Amino acid sequence: AFNPLPSTKVPVINALGQVVAENITSKIKVPPFQNSAMDGYAITSNSCIKASSKNPTTLSVTATIGAGQIPNKNVSPTTAIRIMTGAQIPNGADAVVPFEDTNETELLSNNLPLTKIKIYKKVISGQYVRPAGEDISLGQLIVSKGTIVNPPIIGLLSSVGIKSISVTKRPTVAVISTGSELVAPGSRLSKSKVYDSNQFAISAYVKSCGGIPKLLGIAKDDIEDISSKIKQGLDADMIITSAGVSKGDYDLVKKVLSDFGNIHFWSVQMKPAKPIAFGIINRKNQPPVPLLGLPGNPVSALIGFHKFGKPAIYKMMNKPIATKQNIVAILEDAIINKDNRRIFARVLVYRKNNQYFAKLAGKQGSNLMSTVVNANGLATCPETSLRMMPGEKISVEIFDWSDIN
Ligand code: AMP
Ligand code: MG
Repeated sequence: AFNPLPSTKVPVINALGQVVAENITSKIKVPPFQNSAMDGYAITSNSCIKASSKNPTTLSVTATIGAGQIPNKNVSPTTAIRIMTGAQIPNGADAVVPFEDTNETELLSNNLPLTKIKIYKKVISGQYVRPAGEDISLGQLIVSKGTIVNPPIIGLLSSVGIKSISVTKRPTVAVISTGSELVAPGSRLSKSKVYDSNQFAISAYVKSCGGIPKLLGIAKDDIEDISSKIKQGLDADMIITSAGVSKGDYDLVKKVLSDFGNIHFWSVQMKPAKPIAFGIINRKNQPPVPLLGLPGNPVSALIGFHKFGKPAIYKMMNKPIATKQNIVAILEDAIINKDNRRIFARVLVYRKNNQYFAKLAGKQGSNLMSTVVNANGLATCPETSLRMMPGEKISVEIFDWSDIN
């Protein structure tokens, strides 16, 4: 149901994480002109081939130029121009002598004018001169189609003067929480109500995948309320709902989905997030909008999003899912598989003697959000295993490497 979205022109600074939709070449050289790599003196190397601390070469200083200034004098074999890092090399000069290799400091500390300067070290042609085009040549391909924009690429594009580029669009994802028990954080919690956390966790996750979440708020467990929220989401590239997809009396999302479109699947042999639903909502004269109905329990919603929502967003953005950060760890607790589902267990992975170990990050109830926060990985017990026992090897997808040494 998903395809890459069309491309669009965006400011380079907003393109972080997006996929470049064109080959980009440079219309300039970088650096555009040859310039100094040091603060020092621009000279002709010939005049100082034999310079040493015992036998320095003395040159007349004719000017000082800083970065951004245009040299208006030439350098001759008997002269030098004081030059700062990044300033254009004056005509006649082919090398720069850093201040450290001259008597500049001595002159300054004795309050003497910088009219004549002694060069204490032999000079090689080209030293501390950055040639024009050293970094990027004229017409060079700097970013190819399909590249994911990262901060260095943003720097590279800016260095050749590019302000906007063509990238695959970010999908807009409408996020709806359903449940008559839900109230928005910030409001008072009256009896038998709970705060809506899914809307925010899912929206944040959408954003971290590169999508644009459109938070549509809470729908009560009521056909009309759910329908009206879904209608508000029809201009999005995908709608994600949470809750209302199980077998309870008030689980109405599937009903609305089948009223407005088609259910492609419901219920997946996984734990948590088994009652996940997916379908499309039909629109008049427009392509249908995919709807992912996540279960309501917050852990199920997150893991359901991770396994189904994230790949959909990546597909729409034309991004490959980064090579999975999967490792093999030694399991420290038992995982019992009662009904042949693929179990995704929240685990805490640590390393000892060059070996990974995984222990359950607390109780595995799908309502226990805090155990997701305490975990750094998701271990997989295959649907074909009845149980996995302490000491067995288990595959773990690490989602936070920061505390694994
Ligand atoms: P349901 O899928 O509607 O049966 O909901 C399962 C459980 O998840 C119930 O305990 C709900 O209260 C809870 N739940 C549903 N939606 C949310 C939400 N947006 N934020 C936090 N908890 C929720
Ligand atoms: Mg409910």
